[in-house]
Amino acid sequence: MIGQRRLVLEPREVPLGGVRGMSVLRALPHRNLPTIGAWCFLDRFGPADTRMRVEPHPHIGLQTVTWPLVGEIRHRDSLGSDADLRRGQLNLMTAGNGISHSEYSIGDDPIPLDALQFWVVLPESTRHGAAGFERHTELPGVALTADAGADATATVVLGEFAGVRSPATVHTPIVGTEIVLAPGSRVRLPLHPDWEHALMLVEGDAVVSAHPMERNDLLYLGDSRDEVEVSSTEGSLLFLLGGEPFEDDIVMWWNFAGRTHDEIVAAREAWEAESSPDAATPRFGAVDGHDVRIPAPPLPDVRLMPRGRRI
Ligand code: MN
Repeated sequence: MIGQRRLVLEPREVPLGGVRGMSVLRALPHRNLPTIGAWCFLDRFGPADTRMRVEPHPHIGLQTVTWPLVGEIRHRDSLGSDADLRRGQLNLMTAGNGISHSEYSIGDDPIPLDALQFWVVLPESTRHGAAGFERHTELPGVALTADAGADATATVVLGEFAGVRSPATVHTPIVGTEIVLAPGSRVRLPLHPDWEHALMLVEGDAVVSAHPMERNDLLYLGDSRDEVEVSSTEGSLLFLLGGEPFEDDIVMWWNFAGRTHDEIVAAREAWEAESSPDAATPRFGAVDGHDVRIPAPPLPDVRLMPRGRRI
């Protein structure tokens, strides 16, 4: 049992590199908290006018969850998927033992772009399994009866919220839900008392459990709550994430989620080996339409270790 918490996890600015020197705001993993439920990574990409060109790169042991706020994103992967994604739609890619993908903004010119990208770590039972890709254009909504002002609406992106399930494939008990509050609205969000949760303020203003939020902050709520009160003066967009606390110690490095240093080294070596055209059985495959790929960075000089939970 973790108990109730009310801790602000401020995001940090992380340079993505590349010619344009783009940067993202990263709220997870946090130095004191590697996971919230099975959520192990949270980036906000934008808002910016940009030409996004994330060339093919590999993943293992996780699902990528792409949730655009503004602008369209084209996803291509080594399974042959090629999908354009816009607001209200979910791209869910399951890496399993290995996949590679690219993400581009639509068109050749800079466009207004803003998106959330999350990773969800896979449990032992499926992390060595087959890769997959799903696009969901119809996600269930929930009306939340307001205590003041207009009712709020929730879109269940992943897992289960207020008894409503997203059609997206998940591997652990989890919730990911977008919440929209009208100006002057006050609502209570139902929570699973055995799960830990956090709320991110994406746009607007919000007071969560009597705490005034700053935009892009992630407010960690711990567990042992069956609801949390949220109010807004000017209206707001929030994202609720949570789930059953993830028990395994995970080792994350670059685009990989594993359990040991040696697994990460093996995945890195496989990706580097596949840059040669005569590579044997590919683990990560190739993404059609690309002639460049992102090389793996050098490994650090120390053994990679799991980050402990210090909250
Ligand atoms: Mn990726």
